[in-house]
Amino acid sequence: MTVLIAGAGIGGLTAALSLHAAGVDATVVESAREIRPLGVGINLLPHAVRELTELGLGPALATTGVATTEIVYADHHGTVAFREPRGVARGYRWPQYSIHRGELQLLLLAAVRDRLGPHAVRTGTRLTGFTPAGDTVRVQLQDRATGTVTPTDATALIGADGIHSAVRARLHPDDGPLLWSGVRMWRGTTRAAPFLTGRSMAIVRDGTAELVAYPIGRDRINWVCQVRVADPGPVDGAAAWNRAGDLADVLPYYAHWSLDWLDVPTMLAGATEILEYPMVDRDPLPSWGEGRVTLLGDAAHPMYPVGANGGSQAIVDARVLAFELAAADDIPAGLARYEEARRAATADVVHANRTMQRSHGWGPRELARITDAYRSATGSDVERLNNRPSYTR
Ligand SMILES: Cc1cc2nc3c(=O)[nH]c(=O)nc-3n(C[C@H](O)[C@H](O)[C@H](O)COP(=O)(O)OP(=O)(O)OC[C@H]3O[C@@H](n4cnc5c(N)ncnc54)[C@H](O)[C@@H]3O)c2cc1C
Repeated sequence: MTVLIAGAGIGGLTAALSLHAAGVDATVVESAREIRPLGVGINLLPHAVRELTELGLGPALATTGVATTEIVYADHHGTVAFREPRGVARGYRWPQYSIHRGELQLLLLAAVRDRLGPHAVRTGTRLTGFTPAGDTVRVQLQDRATGTVTPTDATALIGADGIHSAVRARLHPDDGPLLWSGVRMWRGTTRAAPFLTGRSMAIVRDGTAELVAYPIGRDRINWVCQVRVADPGPVDGAAAWNRAGDLADVLPYYAHWSLDWLDVPTMLAGATEILEYPMVDRDPLPSWGEGRVTLLGDAAHPMYPVGANGGSQAIVDARVLAFELAAADDIPAGLARYEEARRAATADVVHANRTMQRSHGWGPRELARITDAYRSATGSDVERLNNRPSYTR
């Protein structure tokens, strides 16, 4: 019997690698029939790069991602209001990487199959329910090709099944709806030369619309456009990750932008594919799991993607989970310690992202205050990360 992880996203795959490294057996079930490099870019912050480096993935990350050296805030004429160093340039012992999310997922998947065996990740297998059964958890798994549901016993169940988590819905049937900030995001990747230092991440604003852009290697720039289109409230539609977006909906907000270091309208028009997504999160939960069942990553703490932290926090969850499980006398005690370590910490990040999203500060002093406050509220300042003991057992 093994620990069963539902979901082969960034969080679930890192959990499998972390448990394996700590000497705990794990199997991952993934509802998608095939794991393909979908999605666009994300940033992995130094606290996540540290964990993946300690799992032996540092060299693979360095060849897949772009080590970001600075963040630049500018207006829609390209005038830079504020810049600050990032990653190693800021003093962290680990880089920050801008990376294609799908390529990161495939890198993690290859490592899981290599280390845990070719059958450690079962695709086309959806978790449909579970019941605690004494010293085990009985999990219902549906084969998506045949529809057959088979019960499987596991020593523990980790719900790493994302923002629409079935495990969370079962644990918290009264959980409220996804909360929409009123901001709509369009995301894409465009073949274009990198800008500024070639390793710069840019946040550009004109008072109505915002753009986040950064290179993710192989002459690709990842971009996210954010426009407030409604007041905060319940989400309209399904909040699906990979819904196709339309250039005609987003381009009008950016057509008049003229930066001399990045041709924004041409970049948007040149995207291979545009995805559309509402900026949503949920209120932090008062508890995550019970007994032998817990949550991890977006299933536990969906957050606005404004601090570049959702995937990074899922990676830290995974490492702490393995660290605590390997040391505990029994599984429920290990999971309780994991939640104790991570629940309040990730709630702080959810709140810090909301604060950041609402902040309208501009100008060097105000932006320095906002970014410093974010690092401090999320426990990710240089000294704290560099001096924290490792989660390796
Ligand atoms: C616009 C935007 C920008 C972002 N930028 C960043 C960034 O710069 N840095 C960062 O760290 N994060 C970023 N994020 C957030 C980040 O992508 C997520 O936090 C991260 O992918 C969460 O990983 P996860 O493994 O918890 O969930 P997911 O990646 O959602 O994986 C969940 C997996 O579970 C599977 N699944 C679902 N239901 C079931 C079931 N019942 N049974 C079995 N499998 C199931 C799904 O198919 C999926 O593969 C961004 C998000 C958005 C929307």
